[in-house]
Amino acid sequence: MTEIRNRLFIANEWTPARDGRTFETVDPSTEEVLAAVARGGPEDVDDAVSAAREAFEGPWRRVTPVERGRLLYRVARELEARLDEFARLETLDTGKPLAHARGEISGCVGYLDYYAGAADKIHGETIPLGPDYLNYTVREPVGVTAHIVPWNMPLSMVCRSLAPALAAGNTAVVKPAEQTPLTALKFAELFLDLGFPPSVYNVVPGFGEDAGRALSEHPGIDSITFTGSVETGRAILRAAAEHVRPVVLELGGKSPQIVFADTDLDLAASEVAKGIYSNTGQYCDAGSRLVVEEGVREPLLEKVIEHSRRIKLGAGLDDPDMGPLVSSEHLERVLGYIDTGQREGAEMLIGGRAEEPERGYFVSPTVFDGVESGMRVAREEIFGPVLCVMPFSHDEEAAEIANDTSYGLAAGIFTEDIDRALRFANDVEAGYVMINEYHTGGVGSPFGGFKQSGIGREKGLVALDNYTQIKTVVVRVR
Ligand code: NAP
Ligand code: MG
Repeated sequence: MTEIRNRLFIANEWTPARDGRTFETVDPSTEEVLAAVARGGPEDVDDAVSAAREAFEGPWRRVTPVERGRLLYRVARELEARLDEFARLETLDTGKPLAHARGEISGCVGYLDYYAGAADKIHGETIPLGPDYLNYTVREPVGVTAHIVPWNMPLSMVCRSLAPALAAGNTAVVKPAEQTPLTALKFAELFLDLGFPPSVYNVVPGFGEDAGRALSEHPGIDSITFTGSVETGRAILRAAAEHVRPVVLELGGKSPQIVFADTDLDLAASEVAKGIYSNTGQYCDAGSRLVVEEGVREPLLEKVIEHSRRIKLGAGLDDPDMGPLVSSEHLERVLGYIDTGQREGAEMLIGGRAEEPERGYFVSPTVFDGVESGMRVAREEIFGPVLCVMPFSHDEEAAEIANDTSYGLAAGIFTEDIDRALRFANDVEAGYVMINEYHTGGVGSPFGGFKQSGIGREKGLVALDNYTQIKTVVVRVR
């Protein structure tokens, strides 16, 4: 088994927290403690930010863009070579099925490769002001970038923002989620071994209220990328306001999957099930509201229920169809919503707390029929394998239901009629629209939310804008 890294990684050293505190991280498949991990606090955040600042102003600045790209490619190749090791560790810490964890780690490789290739292509412009002037722009790195990430795809969320940040010449301080700190720490091994100058990548595990808050409020950071809940996103924005610094917020969702009667129902049912049950529903873009044309509601639901019934639950390392939820607190939260749905009058067709496995934080695939837009289960993000079914009778009503939410992250559309699909894609208030396949797209596809689902976009070349600032130079030619 791989060595578990359980200390802070600051200035290329593994160190305990200054106050010596630790916290436990647990395998949600077995409820066993995996490790006691150093619990970073404000002083540790200070150290990490200073280290990252020194690297930014010193050796990292002198590394050419081509060389930055080569270094990131090296990280990608090393991670690829150690994919199984990282996937197993991710599975232990999150409970996700091993095949799924492998997919995520190879997604990390994808982020590193994509932005490695971009490192020497971050061009400025020349602006025509006539023969007496030369006006050009340079896209400079912002400096020390802070990355606060959630537990649902731990290393993937790190790499999604870290890769463009480093490619553009910044340094980074990462605060992983308290539930899942292990892969972000392990990832630091690659920075020790592959020829990076020290302190380009720093990791301060710990709790949101101390390490997270201290990092987001720190006067020494130059940008902050946050992925997590709306509530914490607001706190991040307030902290950023104090020092007037840019933020990228990737927040939650209550994304609709809209199924029109003319669609292939077998395809739609399997995509709808994938859209809500993948990663045990713990995706920000989980397709948690099934908005279905009344005429096909019954046959579609039969098929969705059949998919739900077939899903095998189990410990992540056994590679089941669906693993546990991430923690006992989260299990309580999701079960609370299942209770609420029943009390609000929705009908639970299948699901609830899983009887097996006995240990671990398992919930069965759950389907609520008869859900109305005003219900809490229709409005609030459950972040679990809970699908809410909402029928419609004409296209305008479908759009009304789909858009009747404070979120606007993703939407899925299932129809054989291309005009209908494209019209609906225009009408839906969401940052990421998928037609006839859910959870689709690539590293190059910009991702982010409308409305309260966030600010800014990650992935794609557009994400480089998050980590660069434009300097305009105007020269009077005499
Ligand atoms: P969360 O509580 O907001 O936590 C996210 C991260 O913020 C964690 O590292 C957390 O630390 C930290 N944090 C908490 N309070 C903080 C504070 N006051 N200041 C600074 N940092 C703080 O979210 P969660 O409940 O763990 O994660 C699930 C949420 O994330 C869902 O709403 C989901 O939709 C969203 N999400 C969005 C995306 C996306 O791309 N849009 C992707 C994944 C998840 P601790 O771990 O110690 O609490
Ligand atoms: Mg854990």
